[in-house]
Amino acid sequence: MNILILGSGGREHALAWAVLQNPKCDRLIVAPGNAGIAQIAECADLDILDGAAVTEWACAESIDFVIVGPEAPLAAGVADRLSGAGIAVFGPSEAAARLEASKGFTKEVCAAVGAPTAAYGRFDTLYAAREYLADQPLPIVIKADGLAAGKGVTVAETGDAAEAALSDIFDGAHGRAEVVIEAFLSGEEASFFCLVDGETVLPIGTAQDHKRVGDGDTGPNTGGMGAYSPAPVMTREVEARALNDIVRPTMAEMVRRGTPFRGVLFVGLMIDNGQPSLVEYNVRFGDPECQCLMMRLGGQVLDLLLATAEGRLAEAQVHWAEDHALCVVLAADGYPGPYAKGSVIGGLTELPADSRHMVFHAGTARENGQMVASGGRVLGVTARGSSLSEAHRAAYGMVDQIDWPEGFCRRDIGWRALS
Ligand code: ATP
Repeated sequence: MNILILGSGGREHALAWAVLQNPKCDRLIVAPGNAGIAQIAECADLDILDGAAVTEWACAESIDFVIVGPEAPLAAGVADRLSGAGIAVFGPSEAAARLEASKGFTKEVCAAVGAPTAAYGRFDTLYAAREYLADQPLPIVIKADGLAAGKGVTVAETGDAAEAALSDIFDGAHGRAEVVIEAFLSGEEASFFCLVDGETVLPIGTAQDHKRVGDGDTGPNTGGMGAYSPAPVMTREVEARALNDIVRPTMAEMVRRGTPFRGVLFVGLMIDNGQPSLVEYNVRFGDPECQCLMMRLGGQVLDLLLATAEGRLAEAQVHWAEDHALCVVLAADGYPGPYAKGSVIGGLTELPADSRHMVFHAGTARENGQMVASGGRVLGVTARGSSLSEAHRAAYGMVDQIDWPEGFCRRDIGWRALS
């Protein structure tokens, strides 16, 4: 089988690594890929937001199956183009990708089925948003409606901060001027991943990530500085509640609306006293949560993603090793602010690369035979263990062998579960 993965981050490196372990994979191409991915698969320089170009290329290369990594091509309808040309694709249609592309849409779907989520108002004028805000208690959460790469959400502790966030949105800082204003939820956050083929929902794991740049969850938000799987807060009872009260009813509502969801549903939950509420849906794997999940699932991932694309999840099964995985992200000094590119990363070739240890690349490039940093988040050092502390020890053992003075990482990934 010829397989194409779209994307260029650590998530896509991990997907490629897992897919390659499955004997069904004859040829793997990643577009556009990165220097780490190029060590294990072919890379192709495609504009992955251009559905027509991707489809034409995939047809010419006899691609049988396309796995879409990031949300932007999904929101741009690339999956619709590919399936319209008869190519099996893992990733939802543009209509179903609205579950991530529009926060207001997800709230409306939740409201239609009574799924637990924060009370909210949705507004397209500053005047109406201000009127609603005036009656709400603090803290309050202000969200730009569309995709904003993690920058569209403000948890406002004061009226001034809420007002500033509203002004930003209506000044066009995040594209479409539409806002969701949400009640603040307290509790512990966790990510729950489910494959969905329209009707059937198959849970494939839980994780927790670390959004803030600094140890002790301090400093600005990032794309994610590390993750671990499973998340202890996601007990069997919490998982059952999340499935029965949130995921299954909302997925049934998508079917009822004629826009069934097919792909991986990343369910962002806030858990308070064992009661999960939906914070957000994403329509793709999280990065770096994916690195942990791929390491725990291995080659069966290809069978599961194919079963999702072909509507066969009802007969699919996940085979679990009862183990843990932890990923530490190495980022360039300065990230998430401005950072330099081009510094040399040493020590990578001496590290183990096997089913329990992998360095997944995100922002790397090869220059004059050397691996150099080419992005903000650069590497995802990932290890598996029979306990979380074993995975933690193994991952940081690898981190400490990497020679990259211009990079940094958090030293406390997994603290919540380990303490
Ligand atoms: P963007 O749209 O900018 O890409 P996002 O999709 O990551 O951001 P959310 O996940 O909805 O946006 O919110 C980001 C973070 O803000 C959450 O992970 C959570 O920590 C916090 N948050 C969001 N909504 C709430 C809420 N109602 N109560 C408390 N915290 C919240």
